[in-house]
Amino acid sequence: MLKSKFLNVLLLLSISSCLYSCDKTKAVATTPALTPLRPISKVRIVEKGEVKRGQGLYKALKNVSIDSDQALILINKLQDEIEFSKLKVGDQLTATFDENKRLVNFTFSQNEVETHVVSLNEESGEWDYSLNVLDTYWQPRMLEGELRSGSNLEQDLIADGLDRGTVNEIVNVLLCKVNFRMNAREGDKYKVLLSERKHKDKTVGTKVLFTSYSGKRAGTHEAFYYEDEEKSSTYSAHYTENGQALINSGLRYPLSRLHVRSTYGWRRHPVTGRRTMHRGVDLRGRTGTKVHAVASGKVVVSTYNKYSGNKVAIKHRDGSTSFYYHLSKRGVKVGDWVRSHQVIGRVGATGRVTGPHLHFGFKKPNGRWMNPLNKRMIATPKLTGDKFVKLKNQISMIKGTIADLYVSKNSKYLVANLDNVRRRPSTVDEISSFASIFEE
Ligand SMILES: [Zn+2]
Repeated sequence: MLKSKFLNVLLLLSISSCLYSCDKTKAVATTPALTPLRPISKVRIVEKGEVKRGQGLYKALKNVSIDSDQALILINKLQDEIEFSKLKVGDQLTATFDENKRLVNFTFSQNEVETHVVSLNEESGEWDYSLNVLDTYWQPRMLEGELRSGSNLEQDLIADGLDRGTVNEIVNVLLCKVNFRMNAREGDKYKVLLSERKHKDKTVGTKVLFTSYSGKRAGTHEAFYYEDEEKSSTYSAHYTENGQALINSGLRYPLSRLHVRSTYGWRRHPVTGRRTMHRGVDLRGRTGTKVHAVASGKVVVSTYNKYSGNKVAIKHRDGSTSFYYHLSKRGVKVGDWVRSHQVIGRVGATGRVTGPHLHFGFKKPNGRWMNPLNKRMIATPKLTGDKFVKLKNQISMIKGTIADLYVSKNSKYLVANLDNVRRRPSTVDEISSFASIFEE
């Protein structure tokens, strides 16, 4: 475990005349032993620490020897400046104490650029807050790529030099729309517009302004970053152009191992032999295997019928409904509320089947069947009113930036931004595991 708490003892010998002479070397060199100067040498003890896994603010402050009384002062002073609920592992803290172990200065930084400082004003006895911000600028950068066989989007973005957090942000946004596991194909194209915060050419922060993904099976999807003026607003997120928030709420698969035996669409029915529409997917599973709710919702069906056997249906927040057929056991009843991933029954072979499996279906809010493997998220409420207008404005600014970058890329005279646009080919994660259509 990385324990980076170390103690620095700084002996600051400051000589009052130095403040005026402004020539430290001279001041030190010429300090005569006999001069009756007031001894104002200050002892300063600086403790440095960082936020560790699972720590709240109090614990983190303890890392740098700040006691509860001092912590209260700091929390009071910083509560409007820092969101304490968003402490991250690795956030840096320093505390400076005088020789009487009295706190005189505290700093907190979540990145290399901004440092929050609370210091004791020795004259007034008050605590002063200030924010030290390094000189930075934002610079747009466009990434484009194409999936090649043998790699995946995540690896490509890492190879493009993006940090893990940014890559996760991009992938999570696209996961709301794209089932990479099933539908990623060689030749799929992606674009990402970043705004990178630079300090002396070094990237110290990244915003993902735009992401798009386009593929034969995956379709075309675009996401725009909307930033609310209000700091730490929960509305700040990625949205589709029509205001749908793309927040990956973790739609789960109904079985812990996903193996598709029969896909969605037209097929020859395994029992009747007739060409029929298969309104779901058949997932391989042994009798008794746990079946999980793919998202939270309310049980609207829990019954038996001779075709679907024991079946359960769950209605979700966005009005969509998931269906689970042929269960050996049903574990929920109509009206029950279920959590995401809660066990709702067991795989079985009830109804018109040739063997045990889970038939898993999904209906859109409008009542139409859809391929459940293309259902990526339970939709959140759309942005409306003023916020939707602001989103529209921000989208046109993002589109403007993209257009500018293309102009500078294509122009021989605008060399300055050439490096912003970079093309590199890439590769497909898994060319999906295809199930044989006619297998039961
Ligand atoms: Zn089926």
